[in-house]
Amino acid sequence: MSNKPGMNRRNFLKNSAIGVGAGMLGSSPWLLGQQSPASAPQPTPTPESPLKIKEFRTLGRTGFKVSDISSGFVKDPVVLERLLDAGVNYIDSAESYNNETVVGDVIKKRDRKSLFITTKMELKEGEDISKEACLKRARKSLENLKTDYIDCLMMHGVEKSAMVKSEGFHAAMQLLKNEGRLRFVGISNHGSNWFVDPVETMEKVLTAAALDGRFDVMLLAYNFINEDNGDKVLKLCKEKNIGTTLMKTNPIGNIPVLKERIAKAKADNQEVPEYYPPMITRLEEKAKKAAEFIKQYKLEDYPRMRQAAIRFVLSNPNVNTVCCSFKNFDDIESFITLSGTRLEDMDKEKLSAYKEGCSALYCRHACGLCEPACPHHVPVNSIMRFNHYYEAQGKEKYAMKHYAKLPAAKADLCANCSGHCEKACPYGVPVQGLLYMAHRTLSLA
Ligand code: SF4
Ligand code: SF4
Repeated sequence: MSNKPGMNRRNFLKNSAIGVGAGMLGSSPWLLGQQSPASAPQPTPTPESPLKIKEFRTLGRTGFKVSDISSGFVKDPVVLERLLDAGVNYIDSAESYNNETVVGDVIKKRDRKSLFITTKMELKEGEDISKEACLKRARKSLENLKTDYIDCLMMHGVEKSAMVKSEGFHAAMQLLKNEGRLRFVGISNHGSNWFVDPVETMEKVLTAAALDGRFDVMLLAYNFINEDNGDKVLKLCKEKNIGTTLMKTNPIGNIPVLKERIAKAKADNQEVPEYYPPMITRLEEKAKKAAEFIKQYKLEDYPRMRQAAIRFVLSNPNVNTVCCSFKNFDDIESFITLSGTRLEDMDKEKLSAYKEGCSALYCRHACGLCEPACPHHVPVNSIMRFNHYYEAQGKEKYAMKHYAKLPAAKADLCANCSGHCEKACPYGVPVQGLLYMAHRTLSLA
């Protein structure tokens, strides 16, 4: 059950947070009640209003004091207005999110200097990444954002560490800086976009970027289940005074919903049992065990579990801000109230229990370790990320569009395969079944 060697269920109950407190969540000293040394001086707190940002942290060498909760993917201008009213001052956007114009329409009515606006430019090998091409795209972003300058423009979705040295990109960024149109350069990575060649991990790409020296801010995937994946990068950023912002901070899935979908998939395929692989059965068994675990340890309050997941990353002093996707006012209420908070003991216990009982159902963001095992080059991690966009972030159209446009084999192939990727997963994720379910969701099959 555990992905720690030698940790069986009995040992877990004896040694885990359920038994002794912080337990499996941590060797990290900041989880053991220590104060965050990275907290920056803060504006006047407004404790009487839960819907106000209560903590601001210095974004590395930029020196900008950013709200600890920041705006990730937001497409509704009314929601974004409300976030700014709450004190959120870090606003993320991207060419590929199609939300730059929404951000532009909202920020043009605000005090521009009080905001930190970022956007992202995806760079792909084989495409035009010359200085001229990067300049043209950056100028389009400036136009969309209706602003004189961008605070940080990030190289986005980089697949290989060599790409961080793309001279065309850097030359374009330098020119924009000279013109006063750009203040800082950043990089974002959520792991594998592997379609043809073996993948490089998020840690490898971002370490290369930190050592390159030209990146001032990083946006990375990090959460309580895959903390190992980002911890080294966060520490390196601290050492180099690079600002850190997070995404994919919530790995809590809705197990009952997954069980329902499995039941439906089984029912839909009743007529072709001879071709139907046992993957759904394996997935079902893991989902059933996870559901029993959730009931036994009273983890069924999913909204609270998701809040605890955010509190977990806020408790890390190497984190400057957490980008959240806000779809509606409920999300504002859920996440803004977390500003200035830290993970409490009771929630530490619950996250530890969830990690022990349910993490085998979570395909780690920014992983991709199993991908070289797939004979069809199915981009496992990217497909599971699109599924996350659909299910956890409400970005249904965005997820389906990206899945449809995948320049690679899709997960329909997983239905008739012996599951090489699943055997290669060190975390025991029943990913073949998850991929197949993702295919059904993303293609409305
Ligand atoms: S299935 Fe396992 S190895 Fe593959 S990407 Fe997901 S967590 Fe990583
Ligand atoms: S189940 Fe088979 S086809 Fe699908 S990703 Fe894994 S190895 Fe590739």
